[in-house]
Amino acid sequence: MPIEIANKIVEFAYRNTPPGKKIDVGFFGGEPLLEFELLKEIVYRFKAHRDFDKDRVLFTVVTNGTIFSPAIADFIEEHEIGFGVSCDGPLAIHDLNRRFINGQGSSPIVEQTIRQALKAFSSVMVNAVYGPQTLTYLPATVEYFSSLGIRQIYLNPNFTADWTQEAIEQLPDIYRAIGDLYIQYYRRNNPHFISLIDSKVTVILRQGYHPLERCRMGCGEFAFTPEGNIYPCERLVGDGTNGHCIGDVNNGIQLERLQCRRLAGDSLNQECLNCGLKDYCMNWCGCSNYFSSGYYNRVSPFLCASERAAIEAAFNVFKTLEQEKGDLFFEHLGGVPLVNSLQVPK
Ligand code: SF4
Ligand code: SF4
Repeated sequence: MPIEIANKIVEFAYRNTPPGKKIDVGFFGGEPLLEFELLKEIVYRFKAHRDFDKDRVLFTVVTNGTIFSPAIADFIEEHEIGFGVSCDGPLAIHDLNRRFINGQGSSPIVEQTIRQALKAFSSVMVNAVYGPQTLTYLPATVEYFSSLGIRQIYLNPNFTADWTQEAIEQLPDIYRAIGDLYIQYYRRNNPHFISLIDSKVTVILRQGYHPLERCRMGCGEFAFTPEGNIYPCERLVGDGTNGHCIGDVNNGIQLERLQCRRLAGDSLNQECLNCGLKDYCMNWCGCSNYFSSGYYNRVSPFLCASERAAIEAAFNVFKTLEQEKGDLFFEHLGGVPLVNSLQVPK
């Protein structure tokens, strides 16, 4: 990304964010740490802006874990940048889909990065992607992360995968097993943030997603490519030919290209209208729908089953732990479930 484009993105972010509202800047790839010097420069430019406020602008970098150094650690620590590693689980699971171009698995170096990061930072997130092939290993993946010392675990399904009926039917048992691990960690006084559970506990407590929590693609969320093209969501980024681009940093956003947001955020899928879980379900995530059904506003059988299983698993966790510990999830009401895990002493 030429620095002129980066400058325009910084301006775009400040110009389009209402006063007092936070700006979340996430560096993603490809692999953002391949361009560590540019990443530093962009952070400096955000901080040098006349409207910069350290409580307002938050940075996060998600890396594939193959690049790390003391210089990177120092910069991330100094600038309080959230640090996440994409890791799909124990070595054999991770290497199924994350190999170097010579075919060698990246797991040893990724695990080493996680260990170093845990020593360098007060918190480290992992982002694990699972598919039909690796679904049954998901509880083992959570245990693997826990054994490394990770307390913030994000689990994301691969929506583009071919989810067979057989795999879909396994979802309730697998998610329930993750809920059981969550309960065990709490009972051992070692709570973990597990996105699959915590995000739904929050929604259960609040009796549904708040309108502002729903999809913000193209209105509160933007992704920028090195060429300066703007996409409505990081997951929809392409080479400019996939139909999702909504503008560029030179000409701004063309509203008529925001069809995807209207379809995703403003209309409920017909099949969901009468569902009792509709307020607790992410049926409005346009990109998840798009990748799994081909339409921004059509839920696929996988997404529906996954949401049902996640809500059920989270409800079981909530019921069990509230009975045992009471008021445990108070912070979730404020929408900050991370607090639980961030407060875990290292
Ligand atoms: S499409 Fe999904 S991932 Fe993208 S901004 Fe909307 S809710 Fe978030
Ligand atoms: S659980 Fe299924 S039917 Fe119900 S709202 Fe979600 S996607 Fe729609």
